[in-house]
Amino acid sequence: MTARRPRHPGRGGKGRRFDRGRQVEPQARAEIDALLGDRPRRRDLLIEHLHLIQDAWGGISKARLAALAEAMRLSQAEAYEVATFYAHFEVGESDGRIPVRVCDSVVCACAGADALARAEFSGARVLRAPCMGRCAEAPAAVVGRKALGRATRENIAHAVRLGETAPDIPPHPGLDAYRREGGYALLQACRAGRCTRESVIAEVEASGLRGLGGAGFPAARKWRFVMAEPRPRLMAVNADEGEPGTFKDRWVLETAPHRFLEGALLAAWVAEAEEIYIYLRDEYPAARAILLTELAALRAAGLAGGAPIHLRRGAGAYICGEETALLESIEGKRGLPRHRPPFPAQAGLFGRPTLIHNVETLYWLREIVEGGGAAFAARGGGKGVRAWSVSGRVREPGVKIAPADITARALIEEHCGGMAPGHAFKAYLPGGASGGILPARLADLPLAFGALDEYGCFVGSGAVAVLSDRDSIRAVARNLVSFFEDESCGQCTPCRVGTEKALALMGREAWDAPLLKELAATMADASICGLGQAAPNPLLGALRWFPEELGA
Ligand code: SF4
Repeated sequence: MTARRPRHPGRGGKGRRFDRGRQVEPQARAEIDALLGDRPRRRDLLIEHLHLIQDAWGGISKARLAALAEAMRLSQAEAYEVATFYAHFEVGESDGRIPVRVCDSVVCACAGADALARAEFSGARVLRAPCMGRCAEAPAAVVGRKALGRATRENIAHAVRLGETAPDIPPHPGLDAYRREGGYALLQACRAGRCTRESVIAEVEASGLRGLGGAGFPAARKWRFVMAEPRPRLMAVNADEGEPGTFKDRWVLETAPHRFLEGALLAAWVAEAEEIYIYLRDEYPAARAILLTELAALRAAGLAGGAPIHLRRGAGAYICGEETALLESIEGKRGLPRHRPPFPAQAGLFGRPTLIHNVETLYWLREIVEGGGAAFAARGGGKGVRAWSVSGRVREPGVKIAPADITARALIEEHCGGMAPGHAFKAYLPGGASGGILPARLADLPLAFGALDEYGCFVGSGAVAVLSDRDSIRAVARNLVSFFEDESCGQCTPCRVGTEKALALMGREAWDAPLLKELAATMADASICGLGQAAPNPLLGALRWFPEELGA
């Protein structure tokens, strides 16, 4: 179950190597010039341009990478570092085979993804990949850009054989449909001066809305911090949900794109942010297609004015969900988290005060302001609601709109139709890969921000993965720590070395509990960002609740 993907040389310290500068070949120079056309050669567009090359030729040859570096006036080492940092860029000549990515994250692994990842398909090459946000349809695979839920050898082979590599675009309400049910009336009222910024902030404060990307910071307070800084200000939207088990932002983007966009424009209006950058994970090509279409419709209707929206494409790096790494990536660099202070609200994107919000947080804004913050707070039995991503051994996994302090047992029994046939509830992950592990006997705890601290857990982005008596806690914990080991950006030693060391120790027949706990404490205390700090949570949960399975 502990699958491994190729290392990424550009992630500092992990097999990093530098390419010597090479002469730019005239043919490569001509190809890159033709490809870029009149597109700007700005530094922050490096990742966008790398995508263009990869899409055009199926890989990024060193000759074209050198030509791109020259065109953008970057050193070749700089371009190489960025290209090799991101898992979706393949530096080298493409062999022409279709890439088939098989998800090896925990829910898909439990559903049998390992056998798929070892399969061979004529005309394709199989790669192991981290969570694709399709945990409700595990196991998941992607053929080219086409996502396959409940992937099998047969449906993968079928797609490869027919060359079906384009994403399926799900039906969604477009601009006209959204406006027919009152969409954008609130935004227009704000822009016309019929609402004040303070009145909008007051409703959001009354709602108790928190950041739903994982940190849970009160949304209105974040606005006030940014508004206290001098203009010009910017806004970044974190649409890079990569936490294994999380897929609710994809659900928002694919089912309610304009409700999300109106929320983004509303937040930008409140904070007087001059431009909006949406950073969308590359695993969501259908959401990208929808956003491109609907953003064009928004501009054509004259509704996008005020704050231009830029849609940026991630490239397969979990760490870019960390807000400062996300900013670095938008700036066209490797996604290395920044030291804080300064905080993004003070000096964020391009050094400007930056408001950062998660997709789901923005999704709720219209309802809160139109219906009143108190009414939103009264939903869900008085705690508000949020979108939960529920996956694993339940009968009906999926996105569930439920109280913001619901219990795992209520989620399973009242929203998911109970456990899947033949499975007995054993344990659950309350907050995706990083939120720790809890046994089924603690399924009546409220899944609220801060409520699980004493159990060494957190709810984060609201990804609840349910495990059964058929799942090995040892294998689950190793899968999760392997994920962090692979996704560590490598910038700091406690995380880079700690995850490797932990994984090696977890491979022993009997776990050395004192040594693992000491290692975990060092990682939690000394890592720069949340990835390294939370990476030991799976092993600590396993040791605390399931020592009998670990020989500890
Ligand atoms: Fe990078 Fe890990 Fe350090 Fe975060 S904790 S900066 S992911 S090495």
